[in-house]
Amino acid sequence: MQTLQPSSAVAEIGHFIGGKRVAGTSGRSGEVFNPATGAQTGRVAFASKAEVDAAVAAATAAFPSWADMPPSRRASVMFRFRELLLRDADHLAAMITAEHGKTFSDAQGELARGLEVVEFVCGIPHLLKGELTEQVSTGVDSHARRQPLGVCAGISPFNFPAMVPMWMFPVAIACGNTFVMKPSEKDPSLAIEIALLLSEAGLPAGVFNVVNGDKVAVDAILEHPGIKAVSFVGSTPIAEYVYKTGTAAGKRVQALGGAKNHLVVMPDADLDAAVDALMGSAFGSAGERCMAISIAVAVGDDVADALIERLSPKITALKVGSGLDDGVEMGPLVTGAHRDKVKSYIETGIDEGAVAILDGRTFKPAGDGFFVGGTLFDGVKPEMRVYREEIFGPVLGIVRVKTFEDALRLVNDHEFGNGTSIFTRDGGTARNFDRAVQAGMVGINVPIPVPMAFHSFGGWKRSIFGDHAMHGMEGVRFYTRLKTTTTRWPKAASGAEYIFPTVK
Ligand code: NAD
Repeated sequence: MQTLQPSSAVAEIGHFIGGKRVAGTSGRSGEVFNPATGAQTGRVAFASKAEVDAAVAAATAAFPSWADMPPSRRASVMFRFRELLLRDADHLAAMITAEHGKTFSDAQGELARGLEVVEFVCGIPHLLKGELTEQVSTGVDSHARRQPLGVCAGISPFNFPAMVPMWMFPVAIACGNTFVMKPSEKDPSLAIEIALLLSEAGLPAGVFNVVNGDKVAVDAILEHPGIKAVSFVGSTPIAEYVYKTGTAAGKRVQALGGAKNHLVVMPDADLDAAVDALMGSAFGSAGERCMAISIAVAVGDDVADALIERLSPKITALKVGSGLDDGVEMGPLVTGAHRDKVKSYIETGIDEGAVAILDGRTFKPAGDGFFVGGTLFDGVKPEMRVYREEIFGPVLGIVRVKTFEDALRLVNDHEFGNGTSIFTRDGGTARNFDRAVQAGMVGINVPIPVPMAFHSFGGWKRSIFGDHAMHGMEGVRFYTRLKTTTTRWPKAASGAEYIFPTVK
């Protein structure tokens, strides 16, 4: 049991601009809840355009000296930040659970994955090393390196209030940029806490700023001429909007969107391993993960029947409750509105003809928390909304197909292509799947194939808008631009040349 005491007071959550916490001045705000109790715990200020302007002004003022700082000194701030994250890890994880609802151990895991990006950028002097070719022509050398862009911005979703911002700002800052973060208004407290830790780590004022808010703040970021690049993670319609609006305003944009991830179970798979994988990836974090598996593709009726037989008792036995309580495996959904949306999807699935083996709407929470129990559908068909659309809740659908080729076609025909997995004991089948599947992240006997920090995270198709995935070298490339210099130090002038230069 963790010790984040419930408080009846409603916390006021403002912004962090120019190295200081500041209260909101727009007069607009949103409610923040403890999803496990349904109680309002905070009120988050929604930034106006003027408040976004103030954050960009602070970041603009901080940029020249931060970009000029040797990369090894920028890295030393990141080393200290890493130590502070470790020092406060339990406190930060409890904060995540209090506003998001996921279990404390899941919140610890999220934080650990974010911390790995900080560790990755502790090596920024190495990552920014350029290339030099001596003697590209006689007496001429050429070198290429990447330089920071200026002020960058990040806009993040509710489901990973620590990890997703940490996919963005550590890389941007380590590369020499300054940053304006706009976290989700549903769980905004962590970003401010992170800003305080960065200051404690020695980050100069203005390098990292937080503006809380909604569409008004997002639009102000997208339109601001002082912002050079925008990283976005969220649902597909907003990702597409952010990409189109941001690029039309001349910015570099990477926008990661929604998902519907399939796990293909072949007849030769280790079924117990597949069932464990489905349980964790469909019901972990109440299905509120962009890498959650929401569709099991059973190759053959025998596989489908065996999955249902083994999954049903496990889903029924899921320990659902407050994420801060010991032994709880699945917490609530993030808001009452989201809980109602997930419930309405379950109704839609039944109306469309899917068979509800288990219906999570029957789960009765003790209090007013935003809970839905685990749901299992059989007979899900590609034309159904519960197949096509992202539900983002603890709902697992089984699609029955006859062959591997049918399974592959199903995955490839879906509009989303974030992650996908196959469970099989056959190397040839796994290799064929890996080569032909249309998704950005593939798991082979691995259910949630989230790449490590030194690789890069990103989907395909309508799960991403823009060319760059996040963190790893893709992140370094996104937050820098290439400059190539050709140098000659002649002993004496050798006369003008009017032909195009060639190697001499
Ligand atoms: P969301 O799209 O509702 O919100 C994301 C961000 O956009 C938030 O900061 C929000 O304030 C802002 N926003 C919301 N409405 C807006 C509007 N009309 N105009 C401009 N900005 C707006 O997403 P969410 O519900 O917070 O998060 C869940 C979604 O994020 C899911 O679709 C999930 O798949 C996706 N996600 C994707 C990845 C990935 O890597 N592909 C990772 C995590 C989450």
